[in-house]
Amino acid sequence: MKTTTPEDIGYIEELIAIDRQYVWHPYAAMPNPLPVFPVRSAKGVRIELEDGQSLIDGVSSWWTCIHGYNHPQLNAAAHTQIERMSHVMFGGLTHRPAIDLAQKLIEITPTDLQHVFFSDSGSVAVEVAMKMAVQYWHSRGQANKNRFLTIRNGYHGDTFAAMSACDPVNGMHHLFSGMLTQQYFADAPQIRFHEDWQEADITSFAALLEENSDRIAAAIFEPVVQNAGGVRFYHPEYVRRASELCKQHNVLLILDEIATGFGRSGKLFACEYAAICPDIMCVGKALSGGFMSLAATLTTPHISETFAAGEAGVFMHGPTFMGNPLACAVSLANLELLESYDWQSKIAAIEAQLTAELEGCRELEAVKDVRVLGAIAAVELRRPVDMATVQPQFVDRGVWLRPFGRLLYTMPPYIIRPEELSAVTSAIYEVAAGL
Ligand SMILES: *Cc1c(COP(=O)(O)O)cnc(C)c1O
Repeated sequence: MKTTTPEDIGYIEELIAIDRQYVWHPYAAMPNPLPVFPVRSAKGVRIELEDGQSLIDGVSSWWTCIHGYNHPQLNAAAHTQIERMSHVMFGGLTHRPAIDLAQKLIEITPTDLQHVFFSDSGSVAVEVAMKMAVQYWHSRGQANKNRFLTIRNGYHGDTFAAMSACDPVNGMHHLFSGMLTQQYFADAPQIRFHEDWQEADITSFAALLEENSDRIAAAIFEPVVQNAGGVRFYHPEYVRRASELCKQHNVLLILDEIATGFGRSGKLFACEYAAICPDIMCVGKALSGGFMSLAATLTTPHISETFAAGEAGVFMHGPTFMGNPLACAVSLANLELLESYDWQSKIAAIEAQLTAELEGCRELEAVKDVRVLGAIAAVELRRPVDMATVQPQFVDRGVWLRPFGRLLYTMPPYIIRPEELSAVTSAIYEVAAGL
């Protein structure tokens, strides 16, 4: 078979045609009727397409590349580690990159979290968290506590246990009903981040706990920011009250910080807004700075040390690529990079600019709401967007955004410059104005 090169006429068309014929994309049909844009390379905040067009990435490749692409420090960490080993099994062996990264995570997360379980993706980190909670109660002779309490509009990943805690409507639970565990769903919080707290917001969560705590292993939700479930920012007091109620009712608390973690919301972890520490916390996405897939589940010694007394005696999970040295080395470099500058001021500046520049969208007929928190902004429309038309409109404006449902949203890399961020916000305004 002849391989095409960029010099060949029709090279890009051919790439797209082969992609369309053989390759699945996230949440896509097969064959995929929507446009896809082949990428040649990426550097800083820019993605360069095969046709030479350069796009400012306004979504950080789904919350991940907080320091931009091709960062010299992350590349250097990867090169150094590749020369030593890119992978070695974790059963019975250990290594510096995993040890150093675990120590770093323990240092920067809430104090009670002292033990780290590495995995390959956010969904698996959530599976691990849920298994920990179930095994904890099993080890304590309460095997009936194996359900979860969560809140509507949540998103926790695409594997089965994670999916069972996702919003039942967005997640199309009825399709998988025979295989999905039925969890308890509290009403989504209505009081927004900047509004005055009202205790009524927690009523549904509290009532479900009250009635079912003998069945519930843990509550699981995204603190303060509901991400893929609608980019909603809710009141930190909800998180604080939920934590209190869980303690009162003997239910563990799992916080999913996979999207919010590492500064995105304006705090290093969104649970800091509520000044609480969960029993179990999941991180992923920005952990490696978008370099490669890595996630972790952190817990307290109280939880993990319980397993020794249980039937299995150990925690029943162990991914083949657990603690991958390359991913750990790059992630450590990414967290050291984050600590090396005043990221709080950067996020505050991004927040101020997003707020000022997207305010005008409120007057547009197609726009229902505009929300900003930290380096996250959402322009909610009255009607769902047609991806096939809207996606190319952003590309034509030199911007990469990935709208979904009724949302045009951005969470740019922290290194974005003001004029680049303005290009993103103007594109959002212009596209929304044309709807
Ligand atoms: C993306 C995401 C996940 C799933 O992570 P994957 O790496 O895609 O498996 C879980 N929870 C939250 C809050 C997320 O944003």
